[in-house]
Amino acid sequence: MTLVGLDDTDSREHGMCTTYVAARVADAVEAAGGSVDRRHLVRLNPAIEFKTRGNAALCLETDLDPARAFGLATAEVDRLAEVDDPQTDPGVVVADATAETVPDAVAAFARRAVRKRIDSNEAIDLLDRLGYHHDGGRGRIGALAAVGAGRAVDDWTYERIAYRELDRCGTPRTVDRESAFAAAEAAYPDAWDTVDREAGELVCVPSAPGPILYGIRGDDPETVGKVAAAIESEPVESAVTYRTNQGTDAHLRPGTVGTVREGRAYRLDGVVDDAPETRTGGHVHLTIRDGDETLPCVAFEPTKRFRDRVRHLRTGDRVTVCGEVGTGTLKLEKFALREQVTTERVVPTCPDCERSMESAGRNQGYRCRDCGTTAPGRVNRTLDRELDPGWYEAPPCARRHIAKPLVRGGFDAPTHPER
Ligand code: ATP
Repeated sequence: MTLVGLDDTDSREHGMCTTYVAARVADAVEAAGGSVDRRHLVRLNPAIEFKTRGNAALCLETDLDPARAFGLATAEVDRLAEVDDPQTDPGVVVADATAETVPDAVAAFARRAVRKRIDSNEAIDLLDRLGYHHDGGRGRIGALAAVGAGRAVDDWTYERIAYRELDRCGTPRTVDRESAFAAAEAAYPDAWDTVDREAGELVCVPSAPGPILYGIRGDDPETVGKVAAAIESEPVESAVTYRTNQGTDAHLRPGTVGTVREGRAYRLDGVVDDAPETRTGGHVHLTIRDGDETLPCVAFEPTKRFRDRVRHLRTGDRVTVCGEVGTGTLKLEKFALREQVTTERVVPTCPDCERSMESAGRNQGYRCRDCGTTAPGRVNRTLDRELDPGWYEAPPCARRHIAKPLVRGGFDAPTHPER
């Protein structure tokens, strides 16, 4: 068998999309007499700065001879890649292997590409050492990672992608809302992130230019196929089901507040130190502490109602936070409230007039000037908590491709899924 890895063919401004290039490569392989078996769409480290959007890379498994597959793939990439964009630097990698028989070094490379930053030279050295066909530029990092994904991913999900007729690209997409909402409702929770019910948004329909009409994500290929088939829309030029690591939290690694590094994503424990505060732009900031170390965290404005959950956190709450660290701040994707503070220390009120007492001087306690009552110090007041313990997440309209929706299960506390 032959694995064909592809990456970095698209451009933020001009459109295109590596999944579309992969679909065309698959057509070329079939036209040449080969068959295409599994297709993998892997999301790599979301913190990589040169990504166009979701840091996706693709791999096709075929029975065509590696040299022929390489020739066809490079020809399609040359034809379709948006290389006028200086940010686009395509890569093609072809290996003589199946998804399960790639060498350990390739599987390890793929695992690291989801969580770390890898240098181009390292990819090229490994490609040369293995004798793989390769062509192009930086895209070879993602292309090699996609080739290794079959052994690096242990939680597979599926996406059914429907493509537009090419001459419609750049025009508004026509997708019937009612049929999409009905299909999403019927298939939930096996299919997720199809729509955002609360925001009233069709999450499955991209807003960026490009050939994708919609993408339906879920736990099994049958469900995503059924949802896709139930959506009424403009003509679908073609549709493909990919096996993916989307919706799996594969990017998160266990960490500690004091040891995080830039450009990596973590799951880590702490205690809320600075209470949440909404600042310019509607972003909600807080700080968590673990011993002497602190880490600023932020829930960005686009995470919408997730910020309300974050705002309900109080100083002293024990939490687990998840997200990528950039410029010294963890960008919140989800969090768990582990243990909440139930009381706060407040200035006592006068038992006679029920007004706040005043300080009687340093270390002198409090007193009410009018009534003459005194109190030795601050008192406990029961907090009215609005947040139950458990996991909270950004809503579907703001979810990263790789982030695991809570509804998929496997979390270590009660969950409060957004849909
Ligand atoms: P889209 O999601 O629209 O297909 P994209 O977000 O996948 O686009 P690309 O245009 O593919 O973005 O750019 C990502 C680039 O980053 C590729 O060149 C890829 O090889 C490289 N890359 C991916 N993961 C890593 C990593 N872990 N370390 C270094 N480079 C990486």
